[in-house]
Amino acid sequence: MQQNCQKLSENLFLTRANYLPGDGWIVNGAILRGETTTVVWDTLSKPEDLYFIDELVPRDHRAVAVLSHADWDHCWGTSAFPFDAIIAHHLANDRVLNELPGLLKRYNKRYNNFFANVTIEPPDFVFDQPIALDLGGKTLELTSVPSHTPDSIFGFCAADGVLLVGDAVETVPQVNEARLVPGWIAALRKWAEDPRVKTVIPGHGEIGGVELLHRSADYLSALIEGKTIPTAKLAAVDRSAHRANVKKMKAL
Ligand SMILES: [Zn+2]
Repeated sequence: MQQNCQKLSENLFLTRANYLPGDGWIVNGAILRGETTTVVWDTLSKPEDLYFIDELVPRDHRAVAVLSHADWDHCWGTSAFPFDAIIAHHLANDRVLNELPGLLKRYNKRYNNFFANVTIEPPDFVFDQPIALDLGGKTLELTSVPSHTPDSIFGFCAADGVLLVGDAVETVPQVNEARLVPGWIAALRKWAEDPRVKTVIPGHGEIGGVELLHRSADYLSALIEGKTIPTAKLAAVDRSAHRANVKKMKAL
């Protein structure tokens, strides 16, 4: 699969793209349209992943990119479109400026210039406290959820019943900082109890409902309690993520 865009409802789309050459790994994003503004949630891994969005952003709309976090696979496609604003958590700004340029060089070397068209675009609006974006007739609430990374955010649109969670939700969510896990679990449980949430769109894997939030919270709870987690049925990539998580928790 090169790229794909799936219409979930009249003004809500799931975007997906392969993010490394030669494997089947897929990154997800989303497009939400209001009456005046279109939000592109995560710009995927390279501009080519997003070239099709010209057709989805009405010409008279303000176009805003929102980054779930500054991991490269979620934000290297930003230069695909002349966004009016790029919004991210304030901790993402430092990562985009200082961590990603070196990584891009290394990845172009390692993957034969697969990311040659990437231009790193820093956010031009950052936040820490919750903010609400008025899309015209609907609102996208953005909140900081330190979890997979300290700069991770959630986006919630009550009108569409959609919760955008980036990499805070995965089959085996990847722990980078063990100290964040208790708050991470609490945030997942809180949103899982919110009856307004109908659709959960994670940064990787299949979309679903609140069961995805419960699954990641249950995994992280078992991890923090040091319980044995059965891994036989997991994909190799998830097994290795789990082994890395166990190490991270031990170091806490
Ligand atoms: Zn990711």
